Amino acid sequence: MLFCGGYLYKIGQRSSLTCRTCRLSEYYEHIVMECNQFSTERDMLFNELYRFLPSPFHFQEIIFSNNADFKISFQFLINYNSS
Ligand SMILES: [Zn+2]
Repeated sequence: MLFCGGYLYKIGQRSSLTCRTCRLSEYYEHIVMECNQFSTERDMLFNELYRFLPSPFHFQEIIFSNNADFKISFQFLINYNSS
């Protein structure tokens, strides 16, 4: 399971919900759609998603999809949350 900073803050596992790179609230939408830290990974992810979803993408379609191909593309989120 992937957890955003906003969720980890809410359950007391992080001291702040703010993204360490952008200083914005770190919810899933920020990580997937905006965060400067993941611009390269986002480009790679979106290039793959064009095969499966109509553009423009909505982050909830990406995060909550059960499509196995999407999960491969989420590697940057998994790496981020385990660091
Ligand atoms: Zn950020």
